Amino acid sequence: MQAAARLCATTCPYCGVGCGVDAQLSTDAQGQKYLDGVHGTQNHPANYGRLCIKGSKLPETNGLQGRLLSPTIYGQPTSWQQAIDTAAQGFTQAIQKYGPDSVAIYVSGQLLTEDYYLANKLMKGYIGSANIDTNSRLCMSSAVAGYKRAFGADAMPCCYDDLEQTELLVLVGSNAAWTHPVLYQRMERARAINPALKLVVIDPRKTATAEQADLFLPIKAGTDVALFNGLLAYLAEHQGLDQAFIRQHTQGFAATLDCARDWTVAKVAQLCELDSRDIRLFYRWFCNSPSALSFFSMGVNQSSSGTDKVNAIINCHLASGKIGKPGSGPFSVTGQPNAMGGREVGGLATMLAAHLDIQSERDRQLLQQYWQSPAMVKAPGLPALQLFSQMAKGKIKALWIMGTNPMVSLPDRQLVAQALGQCELVVVSDAVANNDTLAFAHIALPACPWSEKDGTVTNSERRISRQRGFLVPAGQAKPDWQILCEFARAMGFSGFDYAHPSDIFAEYARLTGLANQGQRALDISGLAGLTQRQYEQLSPIQWPVNSHNPQGCKRLFSDGHFYTQSGRANFVPLTYQPPKQLTSEAFPWVLNSGRVRDQWHSMTRTGTAPELLQHQDRPWLAMHPEDAAVMGLQEGQLVKLRSKCSGEAQVMLQIKLESSQRRGELFAPMHWNQQFCSHGAIGALFAAVGDPLSFQPELKHAAVAVLPQ
Ligand code: SF4
Repeated sequence: MQAAARLCATTCPYCGVGCGVDAQLSTDAQGQKYLDGVHGTQNHPANYGRLCIKGSKLPETNGLQGRLLSPTIYGQPTSWQQAIDTAAQGFTQAIQKYGPDSVAIYVSGQLLTEDYYLANKLMKGYIGSANIDTNSRLCMSSAVAGYKRAFGADAMPCCYDDLEQTELLVLVGSNAAWTHPVLYQRMERARAINPALKLVVIDPRKTATAEQADLFLPIKAGTDVALFNGLLAYLAEHQGLDQAFIRQHTQGFAATLDCARDWTVAKVAQLCELDSRDIRLFYRWFCNSPSALSFFSMGVNQSSSGTDKVNAIINCHLASGKIGKPGSGPFSVTGQPNAMGGREVGGLATMLAAHLDIQSERDRQLLQQYWQSPAMVKAPGLPALQLFSQMAKGKIKALWIMGTNPMVSLPDRQLVAQALGQCELVVVSDAVANNDTLAFAHIALPACPWSEKDGTVTNSERRISRQRGFLVPAGQAKPDWQILCEFARAMGFSGFDYAHPSDIFAEYARLTGLANQGQRALDISGLAGLTQRQYEQLSPIQWPVNSHNPQGCKRLFSDGHFYTQSGRANFVPLTYQPPKQLTSEAFPWVLNSGRVRDQWHSMTRTGTAPELLQHQDRPWLAMHPEDAAVMGLQEGQLVKLRSKCSGEAQVMLQIKLESSQRRGELFAPMHWNQQFCSHGAIGALFAAVGDPLSFQPELKHAAVAVLPQ
């Protein structure tokens, strides 16, 4: 007999929209609680009761099937004590023999902010190495670098309400209808309420989102800088500049315009392979619209010129004064549920917690004093691509991977396999028992999934929400923050004695006040004094939260003040750079990759829900029908894919004829792992190259050969 259902308000663990979820709990005949259903939280400002299909199927992906329930060493179950001691000993020995930079942690945007904070504290303040990077490097590091370059801080200016307050929505490299569905629903609703609102979609593929656009620009992959340089030149020639804003709040405009001036509509049309009339229409709409919101995602960020693309967009907003106002701004939307929270606490190898600067001795000292830590890092560490390539050369001896599957998600799968294979110690903490990366683990640690752990996440609009554990940890699983504390203590470090995640949150919140002293956006000192009970009840709130903004802050830069030394925003002069993985006679096709509507990352959760698999049940290769005809290929035919770096990797996909593809360009979904398809892991085809500033991999532009089978 079931007991009456109970509700727990928490946050969806999938994408960066950060929807509020009411988890409905029931109790089975044995007295065990289980997740019976979910609903969108009515008053959560991210989703107001809505959920997409992935969110609504959370109960189907939350069972015990496939869970890692006990620590193991070389696949044999062991005690927590033994597993932690062995892992800590491996790290300690590597550090003693080869120094602190011989060890590394690779974390995930699935971690909660408290977990992320502790992992960074351990590596950067106690081990004394910044070799801690995150799979968020693959998600939004170009946006981070672009914001820092323009605004002096990683400060995303917009909020979701802007979607409803704008007159012009420009989606760049974003198939929001599939990847951020609840935000896309808000856009659709805004268009229904305000028929004057125009939607422009800029994407090499005619996606589900592009189908609905008032204007679709099927841009040649990788040429966005030219398109936005052209927009800047157009604004200058058509009275589209906000001269007062440029004069009072920015610097570097003249040099930036000089770089952009040559980009006439005709020149943009030629490079971007777009119709001149369409380009002019887009430019005219942006120029004349009282507000404009540029909503961008992986199509911009995952590029060897991702940071430049971000700044090309920001330049146009600064030049037209379309920033810091309702319905206006450059809005980077994160892929992962806590990519933003990770950024806040120094999640990347190139940053410190609370937006402190890893290159600044003053900032490093401040943090060391605050932590009272023994071995503060002195320089940035290795970002993900460099981390794994150095590992493959034998430079990293011990590695801990937390909650991510780099064998599927990183480019150059062969290199990642080589790197993991040569490591003396690979520790993997995860909720699942099997995935492509766990196959390399010497020690596996069972971590709690979202339903069993407590903490906070920050969504794409800077909104901090509570993720609340509502089930008892299964088997011997533990929350990540506890695993980190036990590991740090086993290494002999004090400073990791927390009783509850609220203690970690309070320490981080106090640090933001101390670090930024009101000078930077990331200040949540207003939340530093929360009691455990208040933390439990914390309502979603957007940072900054301080004495000036006790209720949080919707929109940044409304006062025209930026976080550079001068207080002015930087224009960035930009020159178009082609992608690094260029086609050749041997590899004549451009391969693009991305998400499908109903799957998440490497499918370890969503792949277990039959209903989610129904939408797309196998990987495929989208090709224009005319290209297929030239190749003599038919729908469903199997082809093998090769690239310069793929070696003997078996990537075989079925052809899917799609007239939405540009001629000469292909698309394949990123999700499939060995468990679901032995030849669908397309990471093997992408080279480990990335943006020189953000180090984000170029995952939207590989050069491949297609071999009919
Ligand atoms: Fe979860 Fe994102 Fe769907 Fe919201 S839009 S329910 S956060 S996957």
